[in-house]
Amino acid sequence: MEASEMNLRKTGFSKKEKDDIRTLMKFVGIYCRENHNGEKAPFSFKLFDTKEIEKKEILLCPDCARLVTYGLTMRLKCPHDPKPMCKKCETQCYHGDYKSKIREVMKFSGLYLVKHGRVDMLYHYLI
Ligand SMILES: [Zn+2]
Repeated sequence: MEASEMNLRKTGFSKKEKDDIRTLMKFVGIYCRENHNGEKAPFSFKLFDTKEIEKKEILLCPDCARLVTYGLTMRLKCPHDPKPMCKKCETQCYHGDYKSKIREVMKFSGLYLVKHGRVDMLYHYLI
């Protein structure tokens, strides 16, 4: 499969893709809100209108925006259908700094959601 940006640009998403995208945005959104102060901007993504997926705007600092952009790009590039669980996947999306960062985010926001009774938000996205 070609992984150029043109091929990634699309308007329709499967439910699974939407779920994954929504989860990623939500988890990083919680992490940023609870951990980072300073300049934040509403997150936007050049390949699709994020409002199509998540109605609420998510405010992110530049670092977190970069992480979400990376995560979304990799998710849309995923060559597997259906996508396997991240930790069982042979194509590891996250490398180096992104990998340690996304782990930290998933752990923090996962705990946050458990504490706030949102266990339904937790699922296999944890890597
Ligand atoms: Zn942040």
